[in-house]
Amino acid sequence: MKVFVKEFTVSTRNREDIVNITRQVEDIVRESGIKNGIVLVYVPHATALLIVDEDEPGLRRDYITKLLQLFPREGDYLHNRIDDNANAHLASAFVGSSRVFPLVNGRIIRGTWQEILLVDMDGPRTRRVVVEVLGE
Ligand code: ZN
Repeated sequence: MKVFVKEFTVSTRNREDIVNITRQVEDIVRESGIKNGIVLVYVPHATALLIVDEDEPGLRRDYITKLLQLFPREGDYLHNRIDDNANAHLASAFVGSSRVFPLVNGRIIRGTWQEILLVDMDGPRTRRVVVEVLGE
């Protein structure tokens, strides 16, 4: 089995922002030369998260709206005594900061309306994305 790891960065522009990272991930998968196995996509950050869904402007806003309903910026958060981003930590932990995809014949299996989206809940900042490809 081969293992190929590479990372890239993306810049977010607002406190809450969504960036489509599908192309960068698929470029790394191609570069790996691995055709069959699995692809792990991971954001090594405590206040960002990954979702897999359609990249449509209205739906992007729906996600931000829903995340802020579930994890409002203001709240009775103890963490906000030392930082002001408890809601971003909670969103990251509950939604998750990694996704795994099947890799078959050189392509990530995903639906037509499934893009890989990085959600920043404590931007704007530069976010790292780690892609690990495992297989043959
Ligand atoms: Zn914090």
